[in-house]
Order: sequence, then C-alpha cells, then structure tokens
Amino acid sequence: MDDEVRKIIRGIALLNASEHNGKTRNDAVISKVLGSRPELREKTKEVIPIISEIVNEVNTLSLPLQKLELESKFPELLIAKPKQDREGLPPLDGVEQGKIVTRFPPEPNGYPHIGHAKAAIIDEEYARMYGGKLIFRFDDTNPEKERLEYYAAIKVGLDWLGVKYDHVKNTSDDMELIYKKAEEIIQSGNAYVCTCNKETISKNRREMLSCKCSSGDLSQNTKRWNDMFKKYKPGEAIVRFRGDMHSENTAMRDPTLLRIIDEPHPIHKDKYRIWPNYDFAVAIEDSIDGITHAFRTKEYELRNELYYAILDKLKMRKPKVLEFARLEFDGMPVSKRVLKPLVEEGKVSGYDDPRLPTLEAMRRRGIVPEAIRKFVLSLSFTKSDTLAPFETLESFNRKIVDPTSIRLFITTDPAKLIVKNNNLTDIDVPNHPQKDMGKRKIQIDGSFYISGDDAKFLKVGDEVRLLELYNIRITKVGIDIEADMTDNNFKPQIPKIQWVPRQNVVKIEVLIPKILFVNEQFNENSLEIKQAFTEPHYLELNVGTEIQFVRYGYCRKDSANQVIYTHK
Ligand code: ATP
Ligand code: MG
Repeated sequence: MDDEVRKIIRGIALLNASEHNGKTRNDAVISKVLGSRPELREKTKEVIPIISEIVNEVNTLSLPLQKLELESKFPELLIAKPKQDREGLPPLDGVEQGKIVTRFPPEPNGYPHIGHAKAAIIDEEYARMYGGKLIFRFDDTNPEKERLEYYAAIKVGLDWLGVKYDHVKNTSDDMELIYKKAEEIIQSGNAYVCTCNKETISKNRREMLSCKCSSGDLSQNTKRWNDMFKKYKPGEAIVRFRGDMHSENTAMRDPTLLRIIDEPHPIHKDKYRIWPNYDFAVAIEDSIDGITHAFRTKEYELRNELYYAILDKLKMRKPKVLEFARLEFDGMPVSKRVLKPLVEEGKVSGYDDPRLPTLEAMRRRGIVPEAIRKFVLSLSFTKSDTLAPFETLESFNRKIVDPTSIRLFITTDPAKLIVKNNNLTDIDVPNHPQKDMGKRKIQIDGSFYISGDDAKFLKVGDEVRLLELYNIRITKVGIDIEADMTDNNFKPQIPKIQWVPRQNVVKIEVLIPKILFVNEQFNENSLEIKQAFTEPHYLELNVGTEIQFVRYGYCRKDSANQVIYTHK
C-alpha cells in the first residue's frame, strides 16, 4: 500500500486517538478512512491490516505525543469543518414560541412532486421550529380539475415524506362560510356581479376600463348573486372584486372572486355550483384557520396585494405572507401542469415513471425521504430562482443509502471468460465492505461473464484481478476470453473487475432515467433500458431493496427482473 494512504490513515488515527483520551480503534478509523477515500473501498481487504497496524502504533504513543505529531504533520485535520448537511431555515422575525400556524394547501388536481415536498417541508420545519402547528388543507374549489384519486395521492406522498401535520381539512367544507363572506363583500359594495362576456372583460382589463356592471346598485348585485345559483350558465356571471382598473398590478383590476362551475365536485357532488377562485378562498381560509405565516412560491407575489385587500374589506385577521423560490431542475419541470400531459399522452409510463420528479417516481427510483428533506433544507429559504442541481439531491441520497445498500456484481454488454485452471467451487463474498451485512455464497466453476467495457481493454498477457476472487492472466481474447488463475496476492497496479458466474446467472433490465426535456423539447431518449446479468443472490432480495452494483452504481430493485438506476 502506498505511503500516501499510510499517511492518511495515520492522520485519521492520530486525530481520533487525540479526541478519545489517547486511544483509537480499528472500526472508527476504518469508517473514517473509507469515508474520506471511497476508492479504497474496493481494497478493504488490503487496507484493514494496515489500519490495525497503524492503530496499534498510535495507541502506544502518549496523548501529548499524539497531539504533537498531529499539530506538526496534520494541521489541516485540526481545522473544524463547517456543517454541510443541514443548513436549516433562517429564523422568522418576531415569532413567539408556540404561536405559529402554517399550512400546506395543495390543490387535488394532480400527483404530488418534489416541489410540493419543498413547500410542505418548509411549512412543517417552521411550525416545528417554533413549537406551532401545521394545517394540511386541500384547496379543492375547482371541481373541473379535481379528483378523489389526487387527494389520496397527495396524502400518501406527504406520509411517505414523513411530514407530520396537526390537522387536515378541505376548503370545500367551508363553502357555506365562503358564501357568507361573498354576500358580505357584495353588501359592503366591495364586489359586484359582472355579466360581461369573457372577451369584453379581458379587453377592459387591458385597457383599464370599468364596465357598466361595476356601477350597478346593491339591489342589482343581490339579484344577480341569487341568480348565479340557478339562472345563469357558467361564464354568464362572475363576482368581481372592486379593485382598481388603473392599477399597475393587473391582479388588482377587478379580479374574479367567484364563478359558476357545473361539474360535480369529487366530495360534494352537485351541492354547489358557485365556486371561489384561488385568491378569495385562500385569503378567507388562511384567516379563519388561524394561519400566522402563509408561505407560497414567488409567482404569487403580485397577488399579495389582492390577498390583503380582500381581508381588509372583510375586516378579517391578516396572516403574514412570505414567498420562496419554486423548485425546478434543469430539464425536469416541477409542475403538475407540465407533468399531467406527459402522463396523459403516454410519453411516460405513469406518475411513477422514474424520469419524473413526482414523489411516486422518487420513491420508485430509490430516493429516500430523508434525502429530500436534507436537500430542501440545503436550498434554504430564498426567493432567488436557481436551478437546483439534481446531483445535489443524489449526493444527499448516496450518503444515506450507502451504509445499508447490499453490494452485488453486475455485468453489462457481457463477454464470456473461462478461467481454465480454476480450482474453487464456491466463495463467500461480504455483502458490504464495512458494515456487517453478512456474506453470500457464490458458486464458481471457472466460467464467468465480465462487462464488455472491461473486456475490450484486455490483451493477451494482461494480469487482472477478479474482485473478491483471484488474479488471472489473459491467454486468449475474442468472443470467448480465456485466462489462467495466477495467485491471490494483492497487486495495487493491476485492474480489478467484477464478474458473475455463468451458471445460474440472473438476467435483469436496468432502467436508466435521463434528462426529460432538452431545449424545451421532450427527450425521446430519456429512458435508457440496459440488459444486464447479475448474481443469483439478486432473486433473494425484496422488491424495494437498494443495491450498489460494484463499479456500476446504486439501483433499486423494482421487480424480479428489473432495477431502476438511482444514481452513481
Ligand atoms: P403546479 O405548478 O405543479 O400545478 P401549483 O402551484 O398549482 O403547482 P398547488 O397544489 O396549488 O400546486 O401547490 C401547493 C403548494 O405547493 C403551494 O404552496 C405551491 O406554492 C407549492 N408548490 C407547487 N409547485 C412547487 C414547486 N415547483 N416548488 C416549490 N413549491 C411548489
Ligand atoms: Mg395551484
């Protein structure tokens, strides 16, 4: 083993000893060494004896001598590292302990995605930070788009994420109250019923003109409001807020508060036909639910003025509205509006297609909830729109799944290899290089598959190591590669490759998700399907098991013959 590796081990052993009264231990040093130099994981057999040798040496030194050597030879190890994992959210101004109420208000019009995870985690973390409450509220006031299936999917997603809420409710359960507020705002002259057609309304908004409906008196508005329950057809009458047609903020130009929708509601069926739009429903609900801090994404910023104006006119308590940046990935739009057509047009296989940023897809791909939470917190709470690199999420995930992922061999584009003088019938291979995850027995008869990528570099006379097995020297290349076993000594300079025995080989497909959109166009090659061979032990693993295929990457077992590539 080279001097550099010995030096790294010595530094780590000294640091650990100096932090533990002068005594270090093999296991502590092993995990730190392999953690800081992952490439050594393939050489654990060779590294471990050296570690125990160095640990013994270091333990013979007195604590002052250990510190002296550490300070003189390894000063860099003594600099405290900043915490990288968890940046956490910045504190909020003026919040009293126990007095915060936040809410997560998805519309049940699609499957939950990692953007919802960001919103829900922020809501939950702040509620928890100040010992307050989180309300989970379905904003279900557009029956045209909503379905029971989506309520369920969002709830399942939130539970999977481990977001704990204190109360769950539906905006649609408050319809009577919302009607009362509608009447109130009409009565006070702060809203009117407009019967102009859609085109006229948009034209007037653009040209900053009021229409004749806005000057109608209370009796006209009351009559029209009552007629909205029966007489008018959808689109023939809407309730509009009396804002300011001259406002620079287009959201204030007499916006719609309520409209007629004649679709059955997933819960209330045909009970209601007048439905509040987003601004009216959210303002009222946030206020009556006791929300103190209403977090939402930045694109709603221009609607804040309307939110506060509605509550002003209704003389209702005002929550504080705060914005954060939408979560988007390069080439992977995080929005129900974009995801739904992909599923409906059959461009992807469903909401759990591993290319998608839905929570279902994340789960199926092997991204764990803790990684999503760490990732969201690492983005912190900012309004600036930055594309978060998906790799950051992957690296949080890798750290979490690595210690428990079983190691197996896989070969892709396989080539045959015969070791003519093989003298083994089976070997025991550890399931994890550091953790005690047991061993598996692999039957050997000298006939193997190796990966095409490794095979193509082999030349007659080369010596390579079959990982965990023995060293071989190549005697023939071509369709069938032949080799002789040489010895079992560790030789740092020779290539080390994985293999699978040809007997009882298991054929699997690896689904590799790629970027979904390239230059705004759907990438027809966004899902690569790779044929591969793995060991029989694969069949004994449960669906859902995370596997690290040695020298290949992390994959989650999706079925008896399919895995999904999680990340490198
Ligand atoms: P979509 O664009 O996916 O249709 P939406 O904003 O209509 O999303 P809702 O179900 O209404 O989705 O949103 C519930 C909450 O999730 C809102 O607070 C919204 O701001 C937040 N949210 C939705 N998408 C994202 C995203 N990509 N990043 C961060 N938060 C998001
Ligand atoms: Mg929405």
